[in-house]
Amino acid sequence: MTIHRFAFPTTIHFGAGARKLVAEHLGALGLERPLIVTDRGIAPLPLLAKFLADLHQLDVAVYSDIWGNPVKSQVDNGVAAFRKHRADSIIGLGGGAALGVISDDKTHIKKIIFSPMLLAKAVFADPELTLDLPPHITAATGMDALTHNVESYLSPAYHPLCDGIALEGARIAAKALRTAVREPHNIDARSDMLMASMMGAIAFQKDLGAVHSCAHALSTIADLHHGLANGIMIDHVMRFNLSAASAKMAELAHVVGVAKHTEEASATAFIDWLSALKRDLAIPATLSAYEAKRPVTRTDIPALVEVAINDTCHQTNPRPCTRADFERIFAEAI
Ligand SMILES: [Zn+2]
Repeated sequence: MTIHRFAFPTTIHFGAGARKLVAEHLGALGLERPLIVTDRGIAPLPLLAKFLADLHQLDVAVYSDIWGNPVKSQVDNGVAAFRKHRADSIIGLGGGAALGVISDDKTHIKKIIFSPMLLAKAVFADPELTLDLPPHITAATGMDALTHNVESYLSPAYHPLCDGIALEGARIAAKALRTAVREPHNIDARSDMLMASMMGAIAFQKDLGAVHSCAHALSTIADLHHGLANGIMIDHVMRFNLSAASAKMAELAHVVGVAKHTEEASATAFIDWLSALKRDLAIPATLSAYEAKRPVTRTDIPALVEVAINDTCHQTNPRPCTRADFERIFAEAI
């Protein structure tokens, strides 16, 4: 007997202006001293000022000393900020840096920590807060959201609920991502991308895959932005996955609107669609095309493979991924 467990426990308030409900929500719970936790990238944006304006009747402190791929010491400093403010609640204002996983300062090993105690009690998803994000961040985080939907759908685990969410999330992202990058103040496209992002995050409780193992390695070794790393790697990994997941990739081709007459042709069309999307969003086609302060070169491959193979995400990749496979994938992506 196999029993599966599915959990969708969090209340989500979604829509333009949802942030205005946060003060009321805290008030109803008798909370008056929230600590806002956000990252250095978001702190100077109008987004935070807009949000703070709606919390004026509360005694609010902000902890924003989080950046890039966060490490444990940033979390420790956040605990100190919470105590200093004598806070009674935490508002996570994301960005994944403020809401997501952490690495050890010294080993840089990224660990996912999960506990029901860590789940948000309520989510307020307000697309108006994303209107001022610059195009390159919209492109990178949008590719991350798309990757979550794609990888969770392709994972072989049994989770039809998440499969349905992932397919619809991919469809919405495909429809909206180009527009959100080209027209930052298009509220419909922003709303769609926020929804696709949430759907991807819900879907990936099923699983992720080898794109994320590559991205975690690139963030650890070369400090690449997580979404950008996924955006660069996704079509390279999908080419590797093709032989093991052509039926599901054909389904993805259908939802993004590029299906052909045969399964093989559709699956290939889906990968080609990803490459074209990258071009349109100015996501570099390869790692060497990315002009970073710290360029990724072939000499990085052994270190990248070492992190990727020890990352758990690829254990649910549709095609098993060995050390030699990661070597090939990184070599092709450079
Ligand atoms: Zn991700």
